[in-house]
Amino acid sequence: MRGGDVGDPSDDLYARLRRECSRRADSLWAVSRALHGEPELAYEEHRAARLLTGELRRAGFAVEAGTAGLDTAFVARAGRGPGRCVALLMEYDALPDLGHACGHNLIAAAGMGAALALRSVLEDVEGTVLAVGTPAEERGGGKVALADAGVFDGVDAALMFHPGVHDWSWAPLTAQTQVRVGFHGRAAHPTGDPTRGIDALAALIQLFNTMAVVSRRLPSGSHVQGIVTDGGSATNIVPAFAEGLFGLRAATSASLDVLVADLRSCAEGVAAATGTTVEVARVGKGYAHFRDNDVLSDRFSLHIARSGIRLTQPVGGVFLGSSDIGDVSSRVPAIHPFVAILGQDASDHTPAFARAAASPRGREVMLAAAEALACTAADVLTDAGFASRAWARQREKEAAGL
Ligand SMILES: [Zn+2]
Ligand SMILES: [Zn+2]
Repeated sequence: MRGGDVGDPSDDLYARLRRECSRRADSLWAVSRALHGEPELAYEEHRAARLLTGELRRAGFAVEAGTAGLDTAFVARAGRGPGRCVALLMEYDALPDLGHACGHNLIAAAGMGAALALRSVLEDVEGTVLAVGTPAEERGGGKVALADAGVFDGVDAALMFHPGVHDWSWAPLTAQTQVRVGFHGRAAHPTGDPTRGIDALAALIQLFNTMAVVSRRLPSGSHVQGIVTDGGSATNIVPAFAEGLFGLRAATSASLDVLVADLRSCAEGVAAATGTTVEVARVGKGYAHFRDNDVLSDRFSLHIARSGIRLTQPVGGVFLGSSDIGDVSSRVPAIHPFVAILGQDASDHTPAFARAAASPRGREVMLAAAEALACTAADVLTDAGFASRAWARQREKEAAGL
């Protein structure tokens, strides 16, 4: 078994960490329920950030609020000696109308539980524990800003779990970006002076058709979805300008770059064919694909199995969207396992999932995840060989573009 040397020296430590989590079960659940009861949207998670930082401060963490210029982000730090550094990531934003239908209240409580348990053993363990409040996963991507601000520089492992409808040791999450394409033509009266008109909307429609053909040969994980954001202003004017916004996804950040280049060359080809000119621009930074560190995620699987939860590899060829954890995982070893709080016939972002995030099963999963996160983090802090194997795997995947 890979990472199967979860051995005797640490057994006491694992038992202590699990005890530290389980004796806090009621208070962690109270935090989870408080977040669930008062859901806050991306970048507006003020009550959540106050609640979590308050708990962490009381436990002796030094808290920096407003990290990376985000009001509702924070970094709480505890530690001793030089040693290695682990980051427990906490999401806590909710969805419009649906509340905590992605279960981020459970992510926050599990991350905090693991951080508090680790804090309580730090007298005996050298290293640094960061509890990182990462707002706006659903819209905007707080982790991208935190990563850009250097929060993960010097971190040896970034750890979180996500509730879901699968028990998977890692999350197949694509790279993602948006591209704006604007065609410039020439306005004219469509019947009075038709030969002078250059129809920018016709060019945009041609691009949609071209991308539909390109889509047929895209590799697994690649996807193009476009909308028209400007299609002209009146039926008696040949549109001088038309604009579309395209959402692009791919299994890896490198293949996403290829797809963006494909879209650009198709747009330029269409422009040449239609006599228009075209502007193609990426909008925002997008997300990197998620790079699973299987040295760490296999170990997390081993630890959570003690709670009777068996994680497997994801079903091949299935992708579950994108997340800002991608930008963390492209910098440092990271995990993002899914643990089911509902069956596979269900879906997140639904009222049923929101109910499950406050259910007895939600509580069990949160606690099991807190314990497994704490034990995995302790392995990184206490076992130099394990931490360096995680880094070696990171470098290996980086070199392969995976
Ligand atoms: Zn979500
Ligand atoms: Zn989510």
